Amino acid sequence: SVSSIAQSPPTLQVATEPTFPPFEMQDQATGDLIGFDIDLMKAIGEAAELNIEFISLPFDGIIPALQSNTVDAAISGMTITAERAQTISFSRPYFKAGLAIAVQNDNTDIQSFEDLEGKRIAVQIGTTGAQQASTIEGATVSSFDSASLALQELINGKVDAVVNDGPVTLYAIKEAGLQGVKVVGELVTEEYYGIALPKDSPYIDDINNAIELLIQNGGYRAVYQTWFAG
Ligand code: GLN
Repeated sequence: SVSSIAQSPPTLQVATEPTFPPFEMQDQATGDLIGFDIDLMKAIGEAAELNIEFISLPFDGIIPALQSNTVDAAISGMTITAERAQTISFSRPYFKAGLAIAVQNDNTDIQSFEDLEGKRIAVQIGTTGAQQASTIEGATVSSFDSASLALQELINGKVDAVVNDGPVTLYAIKEAGLQGVKVVGELVTEEYYGIALPKDSPYIDDINNAIELLIQNGGYRAVYQTWFAG
């Protein structure tokens, strides 16, 4: 008789830029990737029977890597935008976010997006924050490889404001002990994160179905509670 051989599931190489807590970061002791996106992607892999292998890339290298099929997917707090959707595909949205303005604690003259005219602004390169900042009249925009470097520039007093994803800036202040800065005003935008895939990826339905399942069976909620409890 012939014994059946279990087929091993396909392995997806999933890109992420791991300096974006609490979505993706490196555990300081072990160097392991951790965060909301990491846990969610692992849960998606289990639900869809896909092996997940994470690859760290700079944020502005992720879309090119998807376009060249160097990676199979990306989960990196990436906002679904019409412009990006011209060159890559997105899963259904999995998280609602939006841009927030951060200033030094003692700043009182910046309270809204309009107040950023003519100001010095730090952003992370290749992000929706960078895109928004580029529309502000008379502003001097400096780009950094990570959101934390942009926030450090603000703490050092070299810029007047940072435009970055609200959940990430708030986590840095409230959970990671970043001092000397505050978030002001309303969120500047409403944005939705999606898992990014090459155009014509064979995995889009599997991933969408897995997200749907995790929302229904409590798996999504469990990951949310881990990183956004309280
Ligand atoms: N959500 C923002 C974007 O998609 C920032 C993402 C990030 O810095 N990881 O541009």
